[in-house]
Amino acid sequence: MGEQSVTEYDSEDFGSISVTERDCPLCGRRNDEGAPNRYSHTFWKIRDCRNCGFVYIDKAPVYETLTSTMAWERTTKVEEVRRTEIRPLSYKFSKLTRARMHYFPRLKMPDLVDAHAQPGRVVDLGCGDGRQMDGLADRFIPYGIEISETLAQSADLHFQNRDGRAI
Ligand SMILES: [Zn+2]
Repeated sequence: MGEQSVTEYDSEDFGSISVTERDCPLCGRRNDEGAPNRYSHTFWKIRDCRNCGFVYIDKAPVYETLTSTMAWERTTKVEEVRRTEIRPLSYKFSKLTRARMHYFPRLKMPDLVDAHAQPGRVVDLGCGDGRQMDGLADRFIPYGIEISETLAQSADLHFQNRDGRAI
């Protein structure tokens, strides 16, 4: 694996962000020669590894950036705007489909827990703001792990009402 360095990029959507330049995560080959993959977006270059064929983004936000500046609840809003701009009609239909599935989900989290878990502590990995655990039966105590600081704080307050925690 080649050495990695942190670079600041000026992002249109997020301001200045710290990213780590990286070589192929699979075989370690540097692939910065030649044109990037056509699915690249602004400074996020997608590379096809010439050694092993692995397809990857040649930089990644540093961990602290992921937990705040580029947290899920912010990146999804930015992506929503971008998709509406590039494919207004198909994106509208896709949003409708997701809205329908949201209103009629096949199985809700509390139902799954109820069907498969023993009474006690249950952990939701990537718990968001914790609302997915609403309706959890009293014999379960909700715990959560969430990378976004803002969402983790909301989930923590939410779960504390049930003697649980989120970090
Ligand atoms: Zn490779």
